[in-house]
Amino acid sequence: MIKAKGIAAQSATENLGPFSFSRREPKAHDVVIDIKFCGICHSDIHQVRNEWGGSIYPMVPGHEIAGVVRAIGTNVTKYKVGDHVGIGCFVDSCRECDHCKQDLDQYCLEGNTLTYNAYERDGKTPTYGGYSDVIVADEKYVLRIPKSIPLDKAAPLLCAGVTLYSPLMHWKTGPGKKVGIMGLGGLGHMGVKIARALGAEVTVLSHSDKKREDALKMGAHHFLLTKDADVFKKNANTFDLIINTVSAEINMNDYFGLLKLDSTLVVVGVPDKPLSIHPFPLVMMRRSYSGSVIGSIKETQEMLDFCAKHNIVPEIEVISPNQVNEAYLRVLKSDVRYRFVMDMGKL
Ligand code: NAP
Ligand code: ZN
Ligand code: ZN
Repeated sequence: MIKAKGIAAQSATENLGPFSFSRREPKAHDVVIDIKFCGICHSDIHQVRNEWGGSIYPMVPGHEIAGVVRAIGTNVTKYKVGDHVGIGCFVDSCRECDHCKQDLDQYCLEGNTLTYNAYERDGKTPTYGGYSDVIVADEKYVLRIPKSIPLDKAAPLLCAGVTLYSPLMHWKTGPGKKVGIMGLGGLGHMGVKIARALGAEVTVLSHSDKKREDALKMGAHHFLLTKDADVFKKNANTFDLIINTVSAEINMNDYFGLLKLDSTLVVVGVPDKPLSIHPFPLVMMRRSYSGSVIGSIKETQEMLDFCAKHNIVPEIEVISPNQVNEAYLRVLKSDVRYRFVMDMGKL
């Protein structure tokens, strides 16, 4: 076994603290990765606090993992020692269902194996995530990080980046399309940068007035403060696509009216409470309400290469792992600019 150290939550109500555990010795197709940086996703907080139910403790969160290959199994062909690599939200899937076969493994019909807060495919070995110094995973679920993207800035792409890239591509964002991004946090700010690079006209819909300048600097064409009473009326029937990245319960009915005829609002944010909707704003303009989860392994690689090509990186604040509990509190106050990334070398 490979010795690993990390930070774990022991329950839904305690602060995270140091934790020692082990990783498996590499099997034939496994890659052993020295974790250099790990992003803090709001999903980590939802799961640590058991806001979605079913959390498994001790929990080592982290699914925005960037590192360097330390060793490889005997049959590994994609990677060699020293390569820059990443791991996102899942480390395995059934590999046989229709979705897995069509490179839609984020929607594996048997359920994919989440990077943490889950069990391996044996159903009993817990998975531990990237708030640690080393991880072992099958090369099929490991991503290549282009050398031009520094590892600290690459980490958030593995979840926040692909979670916005996937719906932007699926709903065919491009020139002539008006895209709204709800919430300018970790996910939202990646949405702004990627949608802009795809050629869309981008609007941020935020409840934080102090983010206006940043939004415009990141490439948004417009910024709408959702606390302004007349914002929904003034911008009715405007957008081709809106992506909701908000982590809290909000009144969705206001937002549907912003969509044009036949347009779609995609939710990616997953608050702890249900979002209630009234059918009226949907039926009135044949609008659609949809959802999307992360992206496939294939799409994650495409997104990394796209970001390298277009010089897209997240805005990050690098912190030491022992600041994780403070960082969580700041994320909860929407006070993150715009992703915390932990330097795992400082564990
Ligand atoms: P984050 O950095 O905390 O950003 C969320 C943003 O939502 C905040 O910055 C804030 O933006 C807005 N917001 C928060 N509370 C609000 C409130 N009470 N009213 C209105 N707006 C509020 O979180 P994240 O890491 O981007 O994650 C966002 C959500 O997506 C989380 O629920 C997470 O679990 C989920 N997620 C889903 C997927 C998926 O595959 N579907 C993947 C990753 C994460 P403003 O200040 O600009 O309003
Ligand atoms: Zn995430
Ligand atoms: Zn499958």
